[in-house]
Amino acid sequence: MSKKFRKQRKSKSFEQIKHRDLPRYSQERVPQSLKADGRRHEQALPVITPREESGDGLPHESKPAPVVMVFQSELDYISRCILDCPLIETGGELFGHWTATGIPVVEYAIGPGPRANHQSTFFNQDVDYLSRVGKMIVERYGLQHIGEWHSHHQLGLARPSGHDAATMVNNIARHHLRRFLLCIGNCDRRGTSTLNAFTFHEDHHYSYVHAPWHVLPELLSPYRQRIDADLAGVLRHPRTNQARHGTMRLANQAARVKPEYDAAYWLNDKNNSQVLKRIIDQLPLLDLATTCQVQPKLDSRNHLHLLVQRGAQREHIYFPAAFPHVPPEIRFETTDPAEHYPGANAPDNAQSPATAGILWTYDGKDIYRAFMDYYKQLF
Ligand SMILES: [Zn+2]
Repeated sequence: MSKKFRKQRKSKSFEQIKHRDLPRYSQERVPQSLKADGRRHEQALPVITPREESGDGLPHESKPAPVVMVFQSELDYISRCILDCPLIETGGELFGHWTATGIPVVEYAIGPGPRANHQSTFFNQDVDYLSRVGKMIVERYGLQHIGEWHSHHQLGLARPSGHDAATMVNNIARHHLRRFLLCIGNCDRRGTSTLNAFTFHEDHHYSYVHAPWHVLPELLSPYRQRIDADLAGVLRHPRTNQARHGTMRLANQAARVKPEYDAAYWLNDKNNSQVLKRIIDQLPLLDLATTCQVQPKLDSRNHLHLLVQRGAQREHIYFPAAFPHVPPEIRFETTDPAEHYPGANAPDNAQSPATAGILWTYDGKDIYRAFMDYYKQLF
């Protein structure tokens, strides 16, 4: 049996791993030197400079990942958690999967539980919260606990402290994990946050890698709304409503943290991005009896489409170039041929325009209200 296979057999499931031993906390040991002059880093452990990866290196199972894939929705979620705590540490866990070549794919992030311990230079996750939420995410959705994140807020340390790195290396060895992802957040006085990803590997110990983000074009993780709904009442969400990112290290310049729209497109206006967020948050709440997921997509012209899956019904909402001066284009289709819905006397799988005869009442001011008034008439 190869060494690799023996290693794989040794790896433990989420259930077997005792969370109190997981690398879930940080103790920066920076306070005296850093507090004193804000420049010096910790003395207790050697300062380790991670290897910088550009993201175009070839990934390999035997090496730390050169890039980390993530959905924009999860970067946004973590940004909001970081901005909740501008002067103390906070943190959470990352769920997703590893590709065959060892690239982490972050599909769902959680923040601190209600009994987490936040201090200026360390953070301890609420172990009960992590156990409860983690167990459900793993068992219901088959995601893996692939990493964790914590914030060094304004400590001036945008990478793991020596203690963070030692904790990772020790825990990877102790639990026979092949690899683990650690993300370090920071924020500034202007109220923006950054998140840097560091990939650790069992065979490379302290030679971990500062990997850039590959932001996936889907924007919203397919798990975000579903898990949020299923674990409503259990999950604790950030109070900050809006993510605000500083400059992030990106591998794929094509997928930007902020997509670029045509000059005249409505989403070029920052306030309208807020309107879009309100619309996306509101759509599932219109019918609480039916599971609903909203997937934003940009087409080749960077025009926005919202694909709404509401039970067996799929809605396609398109925001054309001239929106909001013209209404959105909304079509329904059903994925269940037995299901009937208004206006569905079209042939199988054909889309049916639903908006004929419905009035678009945009007054030049309130796009959100115009959209919701229009949309609700279809209900
Ligand atoms: Zn730390």
